Formats: sequence, structure tokens, C-alpha cells
Amino acid sequence: MRLFEAIIDANHRAVAGDASAGLHPAEFADALPVIALTCIDPRLNAFFPNALALPAEEFIWLRNAGNIVTSTLSSTLRSLALACAVKGGREIAIIGHSDCQVAKTTTTVLLDKLKALGVDRSRLPDNLNEFFGTFGSERQNIIRACDFVRNSPLIGPKIPVHGLLLDVETGKLDWIVNGYETLQAQVPPGLPGSGALPKFGAALESLGAFKEFAMGEMKFPEMKIGEAALPGKPLAERIHVVPPPTVALPKTSPPPIRPGKAPLPPPIRPAADLRRK
Ligand SMILES: [Zn+2]
Repeated sequence: MRLFEAIIDANHRAVAGDASAGLHPAEFADALPVIALTCIDPRLNAFFPNALALPAEEFIWLRNAGNIVTSTLSSTLRSLALACAVKGGREIAIIGHSDCQVAKTTTTVLLDKLKALGVDRSRLPDNLNEFFGTFGSERQNIIRACDFVRNSPLIGPKIPVHGLLLDVETGKLDWIVNGYETLQAQVPPGLPGSGALPKFGAALESLGAFKEFAMGEMKFPEMKIGEAALPGKPLAERIHVVPPPTVALPKTSPPPIRPGKAPLPPPIRPAADLRRK
């Protein structure tokens, strides 16, 4: 079982009431840490990383309003690329959520809200949907984000890019884009760095151009979302990480930590003093 197969399995078992649901992070060391992009919605604070049954140190958390990715070279993609390169992230998950307010905010409402904040329409870009990357369907937004990340020249071809949707009522995760499948489709076995992979120049040409999505190209999940909200404790409390085997602590105790004195900065000379020299 691969990491996200184990994550989904643990999540679904926890949502179904299995108190022992979890996973051993040590068994998936090659796939950790995970980089997740989620929305800024505060309701998500209690769900992560618990909903993935991962310990906090294996969870690199990026957030933006609506978990939106606007292009293959957007600032979010730069952060994802650095999270892979600098922090060693091995798998990426774009995690949308149900009842996202970004999806529910129309352009007219957005303009009204911005106006109320003193933001003048004339100073905004003409195409607000394109600029903010706003969306009407949480699922399509996840698919679009995965597509941009998968096709970004900044992301290595061996990094799986998953798309998940979290139910904010139950904590259940639905797998919208299976990153292992798209990985196989991109790079056939034995052909690392296939010529079919996007090049930086091509991506640069499309920078700023909003990518249209034909319905015929849409990928839809195989499973339906569980409808019933489960009673009992919130998922954040029910799902848990199976702890790794106890690590023996060294017998010698570490030296006591003493509060140190903060070094003082050099005295600031009056400006007149500096001018004289
Ligand atoms: Zn949201």
C-alpha cells in the first residue's frame, strides 16, 4: 500500500468509527514529508494533520484562500517547488474542502465586499475571475490546481500530485485526483524525464493566460462522497497516528538549559556624531 492509499484507508476507517485507525509513518519514510495546500478556512485548523493520520513533523502546510493555483509558475508553485527542494517534500496534496466560501462568492459579491473595504474597482484587474482564480466547484478547482502543479516545470516528474476533498462536517477525505495514476501517465516506467514533460519556456508562454477547461477533459472521482455526518467526537479527536516503536533515550541526561544573556547591540550614536566623521 502506498502512502496516500494508507492515508485514505485510515481516514475512512476513522470516520466509520474505528478507534484503532491510523498508520505507521516509519513504513512510509520514503514518501514523507507530505506537502499539503489547503484553504485558509479556520474550520480546517483542527483537521490537519490529524485527518491524514500524519505527525506534525511530516506535514508541510501551505495555505491560500480557496487552495487556488493560478498557473504553472504562480507564487504558490514557487512555494511548492521550494518545499520539495529545500524541505524535502516527497508527495504533494491539494486538499480542498466542502462548503468553501470562495466557491460561494460571486464576482458581484466580491466586488461589493472589496468596495466596502475601500478598494476601488478601477484599480482592479479587468478579469477578476482570472486574477483571483475564483471558482464555483470545489472539485473542479482541485482538478485544475493538480493539473497546474503536475504540469509545472518547477515540480519534479517523480513527485506524485494528489487532489483530495475534505468534508468539513465529517472530516472524510475523498480522493479526487490519484497522483500515483497521473504520475504513471506522465512518466512511463523506464523513461524518466520523458519528452512529454512540460518545458519551462512553454509554461512561461502560458503565464498569465487563464487555462480553460473543457468538460470532456475533466476527470471525475470514482467514489461518491459519504453523505451522513457521523455522531460523536470530531474527527480531529478520533483519528490518530500510530506511534512508532518507543525510542530508547540516552542514559546520560542532557546539560541543563540556562537562560542566556541576550547580546546587546552596539550603542547607536546620534546622527550628528556620524556626520562629523
Ligand atoms: Zn475554503
